[in-house]
Amino acid sequence: MSIDTSISLGTGQPYAYERRALVEPDWTRLPGWRDVTVEEWRSVQWQRAHCVKNVAQLRALWGDLVDERFYADLERDQRERATMSMLVPPQMMNTIAPHEVPRGPGSWTESVYADPVRAYMIPVLSDRRTDWPSHPYATRDSLHEHDMWVAEGLTHRYPTKVLAELLSTCPQYCGHCTRMDLVGNSTAAVDKLRFDLKPVDRHAAMLDYLRRTPSVRDVVVSGGDVANMPWARLESFLTQVLEIENVRDIRLASKALVGLPQHWLSDDVRAGMERVATAARARGVSLAIHTHANHAASVTPLVAEAARAMLEAGVRDVRNQGVLLDGVNADPHALLDLCFALLDGAGVMPYYFYMCDMIPDAEHWRVSVADAQRLQHHIMGYLPGFATPRIVCDVPFVGKRWVHQVAEYDRERGISSWTKNYRTSIEADDATALTRTYEYFDPIHTLPEAGQNWWRENAGGSPDEAQKPLRIS
Ligand code: SF4
Repeated sequence: MSIDTSISLGTGQPYAYERRALVEPDWTRLPGWRDVTVEEWRSVQWQRAHCVKNVAQLRALWGDLVDERFYADLERDQRERATMSMLVPPQMMNTIAPHEVPRGPGSWTESVYADPVRAYMIPVLSDRRTDWPSHPYATRDSLHEHDMWVAEGLTHRYPTKVLAELLSTCPQYCGHCTRMDLVGNSTAAVDKLRFDLKPVDRHAAMLDYLRRTPSVRDVVVSGGDVANMPWARLESFLTQVLEIENVRDIRLASKALVGLPQHWLSDDVRAGMERVATAARARGVSLAIHTHANHAASVTPLVAEAARAMLEAGVRDVRNQGVLLDGVNADPHALLDLCFALLDGAGVMPYYFYMCDMIPDAEHWRVSVADAQRLQHHIMGYLPGFATPRIVCDVPFVGKRWVHQVAEYDRERGISSWTKNYRTSIEADDATALTRTYEYFDPIHTLPEAGQNWWRENAGGSPDEAQKPLRIS
């Protein structure tokens, strides 16, 4: 996709803002759900019970509106490449090919192949690159979160913030998940890491670390997705975190606000959130929800209702952290449409777009740092400054850097170098941690021919050969 040529000058502005009403696509257009009532659709139990988990269920839902070639493509991907198992709630399924109505056998095939939500929630083999499906430096835990665990599931990477992975499941599984090492069920290609401790012991160890580490003021409570944690257990954990004097910020990570808004709209969750938010306010702690929408099609009236319900319950802010993905949103119009849908339609603050991390089999989704910089440039000036998302590169052993913060950039070989101004929890005695540079790598297929040749010569000649140590400098 060419980022620059996607800008049309027809309207006098590269992007023409237009206030758009959110739309809930009609789920009864899907053959398998033609009799589903509004009451069922709004029920979180119904949604969870009717998630699409395999090809047979997808076939039962779409039937012959989609050609067999698509189902075969998906089956092969599941057998050979998928790093995440399939799990798509009805709410998300309904945002795929939202304008299609049944028009006969095969009539949805091309729309489904081209659909941005499908492209990351239901990846197929033909989506993936065959030249360099994985970068030679791709790793299962590309951000080294596990290496920085100070208690099981508790990553201490930045000086004042921690990430608490309370659980390893989500109500939906995204094909590009950066925590593919840990999150979800094992797939044919990936045997997942498992927590050793029982949840109660793991959470106790996390709380213990927070109590004895006063330098931590900010806790990202994540997973997986906190929407999969029984509310009583989540509330108990949050209540104990709120009792720790040094904690000033708590952010709950839940893509389910977008993928399964019915969860956040259920009466027990709303009432529970009100209790937690009231306690947070009383203690002067900022409680926020961070969600994950990658395309405007996902922002429907039900999503807006769930976001409003959380704000009414007393959550200070609902923010979006999307992932920049080729074939989904790596285009200035798609990013701005999404940001305006979030901000105008749902009261959700656009916050970050992460570059897709260097995990295996993700090269077809990744974009180069240069393209990320161009995208950041193209989206400036349309949104209020406080709602203009930063596009960030999560550099291994460094953390989030704005894409223009790159220290050096070899565009031919696609090697960017980054610096940092703090030590991670594993570098206390590392004398050069703050003076050396750390590398991030562009997808090889985006490089000029000379750069691609360099990687062929230095990374084993073919993508299937084992990685050998590279002479980078
Ligand atoms: S919701 Fe988040 S943690 Fe869960 S699969 Fe998607 S990206 Fe991964």
